[in-house]
Amino acid sequence: MLSRILSLILLASTLAAAPKAPPNILFIFCDDLASQAISAYGEKRQLLQTPGLDRLAKEGVRFDRCLVTNSICGPMRAVIQTGKYSHLNGFYNNSNSRFDSSQQTFPKLLQKAGYTNAIIGKWHLMTDPVGYDYWHVLPGQGAYYNPPMIDNGKQVRHSGYVTDIITDLSIDWLNKRDRTKPFMLMLQHKAPHREWEPPIRHLGHDKDRVYPEPETLFDAFEGRSKALSDHDMGLDRTFTERDAKLVPPANLTLDQLKYWNDYYEPRNAKFREANLSGKELVRWRYQRYMHDYTACVKAVDESVQRVLAYLDEQGLAENTVVMLSSDQGFYLGEHGWFDKRWIFEESLSTPFLVRWPGVSKPGTTDKHIVSLLDLAQTFLDIAGQPQPADMQGRSLVPLFRGEAPADWRKSFYYHYYEHPVPHRVRPHYGVITDRYKLIHYYKPDVDDWELLDREKDPLETRSYYNDPAYADTVKELKAEIQRLQVEVKESLPPPRFTHGNKTWEGEPTPAEGAPPKKGRGKAKKKAE
Ligand code: CA
Repeated sequence: MLSRILSLILLASTLAAAPKAPPNILFIFCDDLASQAISAYGEKRQLLQTPGLDRLAKEGVRFDRCLVTNSICGPMRAVIQTGKYSHLNGFYNNSNSRFDSSQQTFPKLLQKAGYTNAIIGKWHLMTDPVGYDYWHVLPGQGAYYNPPMIDNGKQVRHSGYVTDIITDLSIDWLNKRDRTKPFMLMLQHKAPHREWEPPIRHLGHDKDRVYPEPETLFDAFEGRSKALSDHDMGLDRTFTERDAKLVPPANLTLDQLKYWNDYYEPRNAKFREANLSGKELVRWRYQRYMHDYTACVKAVDESVQRVLAYLDEQGLAENTVVMLSSDQGFYLGEHGWFDKRWIFEESLSTPFLVRWPGVSKPGTTDKHIVSLLDLAQTFLDIAGQPQPADMQGRSLVPLFRGEAPADWRKSFYYHYYEHPVPHRVRPHYGVITDRYKLIHYYKPDVDDWELLDREKDPLETRSYYNDPAYADTVKELKAEIQRLQVEVKESLPPPRFTHGNKTWEGEPTPAEGAPPKKGRGKAKKKAE
C-alpha cells in the first residue's frame, strides 16, 4: 500500500514537473473602445451592460491605468508590434506614416519560437502584415457594412456586419490552424471607431433611453491653453451629418437601408422639425452618439462572448491567455469631445483585461501604470522567450501573477504628433504620474505648459501650472520629462526621426512624420 502511495506521489510530481505546452495567446483588440462603455469599469453613467467583457474582468485582472504613448490608431498598433515609441518605430500619425515591416516585431520572434500567428480585422499600418501565418485584414479604416477585406494579399468582399465577420473569420482560423503549434491570434475589431455605425440588429437597442451627460459636456476651457479651446473635435462644431446618422452610409444593401431608415428617419424628422441650436443641439448629438457608440460596443461584447464560449467548447480556455484592449480610450462627451489624441485621461488610458487561468487571480484589479508599449515584451515573456534589449516596455507577467515589483515605473512619457488634420489637436508631450500630468503644447502657434492635479481635479478642468504652490512640483516634473526623453531616446526640439537605418531631423507634422521616400503624400487612406 505504502509503495503504491509513494509511486502515486512520484507520478504526480513527475507530471507537475513536465514542461507545460507554451500558452496560446488570444489578443482581442478594439478601436477607440472607451472603458466608460464597459460595465466592469464602473462608469457612473452606466452607459451599457457588457456581460462578455465583464466575464473577462471577473475571471481575470482589470487594469485601471493602462496608458498609450500616442493616442491614435496606427501609431499605437506600430507600438504594439515593435515594443517601441513612435519616434523609434517610425510610425507617427495616421495621415501618411507607413509601417516599416522590415524591423523587429514580436510576431516575427514568436514565429521563430514555434508559434503559429494570425491577424484578423483592422490592421491600419499601410504595409502588409509580416510575421503572421495568416492575415485577413480590412484595408485602411475598413467599412462597417459588407466590408472589402484583404485575405493574405487577395482582395475579397464580405456580406454582413464587420464585427461579426471578424469574429467568424477568427473562429474559422482557430478551427483550421496548425494544431501542432501554440497560437497567437490578434482579433482586431474596427468597432467602435467613428462613424459608430451599429449593427442593424441593435438599432434601437437602448429603447430611446436618455443617457446621463458627462459633467464636462460644456467645458469652456477657462484659464486653459488655446490648444484646448481651438480644437476641431467637438460635439458643438465637428459632428457631421454622417456622424449624426442624418444620412446613411453608402454601402448598405437595400434591405439594410430599409431597416436603417425605419429606425433613424422618424427620429431624424423630429430632430429637423425641432431646429435645435446651441446647447440643445449638443445635447441631441450626444444622445445620438451614445446610442450609436454603445450599439457598436454591444456587438463587440457579443463577439467576446462567442470567442470565450469557443475556447470553452474546444478545451482551449485553460491554456490560453486572453487579453482585451483598445488602441486608446475615447471621449464620450467629456470636455464636449468625441475622438481621442489628448493626454487627458479618457483617451490616454485604455481598457485592459487579462485572463490567464492558473496564473492571474480572478476578479482582481491592478493600478500600476502599464502601457500598450509593454505588450510586445509581455507576449514574448508569456511564450518563455527572451525580451530584446531595444524594446522599451516591460513584461507585465509579474503583474498578471499579482506581484507588485518595487521598481515598477512611477512615471510615463507621452507624445502626440498629428496636426493640423483631422482634428486640430496640437502636438504635445508630457509626463504622467499617479497624481500629476505636466504637458507641453509646443507648436505651431502655442508654447504653453499645463499642470494637472488629478487628486484635486479628477475631471482635469484646470491647470495649476502658474500656481506658486506647485512651483516645486513643476520643477520636479520638468526634470522628469528630461530624464524620460533621454531614457526613451527622444530629442526635442526638433525631434530626431529614425526609421530603419535612416535618421533625419524635422518637425512631427503629417507632412514630415513619415519616412521621406515612401511616405510623402502617398498614403492611400485618409487620416481619421
Ligand atoms: Ca483608434
